Amino acid sequence: MSIIDKALEANRSYASKYDPSLGKRPAPKIAVVTCMDPRLSDLSGILGLPQADLDVIRTGGPAVTEDVLAELVVSNRILGTTEILLLNHTGCGFTTFTDNELNAKMSALTGDASPAPMRFFSYKDPEENTREQIEKVRSHPWISKEVPLRGFIFDVDTGLISEVQQVSRHAAA
Ligand SMILES: [Zn+2]
Repeated sequence: MSIIDKALEANRSYASKYDPSLGKRPAPKIAVVTCMDPRLSDLSGILGLPQADLDVIRTGGPAVTEDVLAELVVSNRILGTTEILLLNHTGCGFTTFTDNELNAKMSALTGDASPAPMRFFSYKDPEENTREQIEKVRSHPWISKEVPLRGFIFDVDTGLISEVQQVSRHAAA
């Protein structure tokens, strides 16, 4: 039986105990942008916040793409989240290759280079990645400057998150 078939079976038992009040309009309080890595899946546990409070946007890395920016606009302006947390992590798979390498590898593996160059948003340094993300989100004109925005790195070995201090480009001019 495939994993998806097992999941379908499990869903029937889940639905039999489902609380229909959970179907009402969501009212998340904080937007969290994090990596698709399964070690980041227990956000409720990592951050000590109820699942219902979290509006989670996940991409590989994570990467703050145009789509992620659009989702943050919706999260803040439509759903009403009041803070944004960017969560990178140590040991990310997206630091283990470069976009060029993966484009070359996939082209060779499949014999079809037509999708290249794909943007995989690979990166090398999670702190630098976080700083770039903060800058990207902060400079978006539709994301309110009033909304607190902070970036962190989750250490997959200790479970601790540590804040990334932003280096201001405008300081001491
Ligand atoms: Zn990752």
